[in-house]
Amino acid sequence: MKVDELSPQSIDCLWRFARGDMPAKDFESWIYQSTTIEDELGERDYLDVISIDYKISEQTRSFRQTLLAILPAPADCDCHTLCDTDFIEMGEWVPAADVIVTDREVDGIPWRFNLTCIICETQWLVAVEERIYDIWLIRRASCAPWPEVLTYRGLLALAKRAASGVCYQDPTNSIEIPAAICDLAEENPGIPLSEIVAVLPIDAVTAHHHAIRVIAQHDAQITLDLQEKPKAG
Ligand SMILES: [Zn+2]
Repeated sequence: MKVDELSPQSIDCLWRFARGDMPAKDFESWIYQSTTIEDELGERDYLDVISIDYKISEQTRSFRQTLLAILPAPADCDCHTLCDTDFIEMGEWVPAADVIVTDREVDGIPWRFNLTCIICETQWLVAVEERIYDIWLIRRASCAPWPEVLTYRGLLALAKRAASGVCYQDPTNSIEIPAAICDLAEENPGIPLSEIVAVLPIDAVTAHHHAIRVIAQHDAQITLDLQEKPKAG
């Protein structure tokens, strides 16, 4: 497929489709509505692109993979490869040279900051969870608001969903887990233990072990709804 005559707008659109931010049906509509893409691709490639059945996920997936392999980078950075809402596990991204922090502790929330890529000028909202999951959750500032990261519980829930393979060798000896439980209880007094288990990488027995100590030492308010029949979380 010929990609060297694509306009910046088409490259942007193709990247959004390729990385999954644009649904196949929207991409198909764009292909038919674009007044330039046929000329940019050339007749033969254009026919190939419109002959794909975008309702068949295997065909769509295969075309996405082709695009990921051949599309030119719009800028000399990684932003175009990142989805509108994405995550970066610690150590995977080396953004220090290419991004500037534009806001710290956004809305007074210690884990929220904003970045701007100095190469492509993409603005990113960032929510950092370093205590348990070691992950940066990111969202393009141009996308919808991000209320999920306004609370510590919401931050942990998103981080748990995104993070892969976080587990503790001996979670009963962790100092991070009780600190997180303490903060969850402070944010939401009376929080049920089942909600704590839902956002931390521990089972109910471990959570109960820490919760009774956090209650005793910090006067935290936690509803021990899993006390009677602890189950793996
Ligand atoms: Zn960039």
